[in-house]
Amino acid sequence: MLANENSKNLDYDIVIIGAGPAGITLSLQFNKTDLKVALVESGERYYSENSQQYYKGSVEGDFPRDLDEARLSMFGGTTGHWGGSCRNLDKHDFLKWPIEKKDLDEYSSETAKIFKIKNSFRNENLNEDLDIIEYQQSKSNFSDDYFPQIKDSRNIHLFLRTTMTEINGENFYTKNVKCYSKDDKNFFKLNGKIFVLATGGIENSRILLLEKSKNKDLFSKNLPIGNYWFEHPFKVLGQAIVDHERLKKNLNSSFDPWVNMFDAGDNSQTYSFAPTNKLINKEKISNSCCWLVTHERSNTNLKNVAKNLLCLSPKISKKLLSKFEKKLLCGATIYSSWEQEPEISNKIVLTGEKDEFGNNRAMLIYKKSDLVRKTARVMFEKIGEFLIEKNFGRLIGEEFLFEDNIKYVSESGWHHMGGTRMGNDEKNSVVDQNLKIHGSKNIYVIGSSVFPTGGHANPTFTIIQLTLRLKKHFSKNFII
Ligand SMILES: Cc1cc2nc3c(=O)[nH]c(=O)nc-3n(C[C@H](O)[C@H](O)[C@H](O)COP(=O)(O)OP(=O)(O)OC[C@H]3O[C@@H](n4cnc5c(N)ncnc54)[C@H](O)[C@@H]3O)c2cc1C
Repeated sequence: MLANENSKNLDYDIVIIGAGPAGITLSLQFNKTDLKVALVESGERYYSENSQQYYKGSVEGDFPRDLDEARLSMFGGTTGHWGGSCRNLDKHDFLKWPIEKKDLDEYSSETAKIFKIKNSFRNENLNEDLDIIEYQQSKSNFSDDYFPQIKDSRNIHLFLRTTMTEINGENFYTKNVKCYSKDDKNFFKLNGKIFVLATGGIENSRILLLEKSKNKDLFSKNLPIGNYWFEHPFKVLGQAIVDHERLKKNLNSSFDPWVNMFDAGDNSQTYSFAPTNKLINKEKISNSCCWLVTHERSNTNLKNVAKNLLCLSPKISKKLLSKFEKKLLCGATIYSSWEQEPEISNKIVLTGEKDEFGNNRAMLIYKKSDLVRKTARVMFEKIGEFLIEKNFGRLIGEEFLFEDNIKYVSESGWHHMGGTRMGNDEKNSVVDQNLKIHGSKNIYVIGSSVFPTGGHANPTFTIIQLTLRLKKHFSKNFII
């Protein structure tokens, strides 16, 4: 039900901050139980420029977005404008996690139901170096799909347009959170037994950095909050001249929903390549996904014939087209979204600038290492070799892959991981394997900020698996 501070008793069993997919999913796990759940959301039911102000921050380095562009403050969180691509992480993505893939696999089928997708992710081996894989495409909109259930719930109280501004407690036990209601124009406190921060991949760090700076006894001192932040770089790696029919016949892609995202036409095909674990180890690269997207372009009209001819001589064509500020577009484009390794120097910090509640805003300090470029290059070369070997086509690579001095900026900036990473050691992690902040008795963090590493898969499927696992932990360990 919709709540406000005047009409409700403010004592809860569980207080969840943030109504993105993580917060919504966790609260709904307790729907129709005897537990009293508060779900606190800073934004409105839908997007509003006013709510987005809260998300302003700054960026240092080569991150391509402003912080208020890269995330949404509204019911449903950033899925208000997400792409809906879903896939689970690979087994080898868990090497630096304190849990294994099998610990999340048991939640896959329930997670797939939440996203309204099949719980099946293609992964077939092509050769020693490459697998062909597929994602599932969710049409779920968390705001529209799950708002009615929360509104009608008897025991989940949704505090919309309400921002949590401070965490209070003593002796490592959190007692309440201070919140500001935009409707009542008032601060109030929500008491709880368990608190869960589900405020997204940047804000989870910012909120904990604010509390760390006040030096209260809420959790262990000196936790590396904000550090080891990473995203999934996304970029066009090159163009290809391919034999569409041979590709279609041999690689058999059913992955066409992606085509529209790449704006390649209705009859295009997308083939997704990932490195085998063997290639990752042999070349010492990170995980990656490369999409070879064929364009719908036959020699049926003069324009297409001219474009196809340009592809036969890519170097001359590139020079020619650059005069008209046009890009060479051959029979296929190769895109990639790939893993970036966590580095301590990539981090969320607090700046001197304050938000409307007097809390310091966030700054993201971000750069990409040589390994990021190397991973893209090795994958590009391996796909090129595969296309030649099978006589499927030829690739033409972007210069940044081969020239270390060419600066390149990722076109993504959407997946925010790390900052409150999961681990057993307080020196290099912030939450334990049950997502409880080290040293705290009752504050948990959920979201991609807890990922120690991120593979190449879009993060939200894994976020929901972790959320369902957190619910199980609560059910097993507390009578709340
Ligand atoms: C353009 C774009 C495309 C994307 N496409 C995909 C995709 O295809 N597949 C995929 O898996 N992922 C995708 N993502 C990422 C996906 O949106 C996020 O992984 C997901 O939304 C994270 O969920 P969350 O619940 O952890 O956080 P969020 O969705 O960020 O929600 C956090 C919520 O907490 C609220 N909040 C923050 N601070 C406070 C506070 N102090 N008090 C109260 N409330 C607060 C915010 O208002 C927000 O509503 C995309 C992201 C973007 C930007």
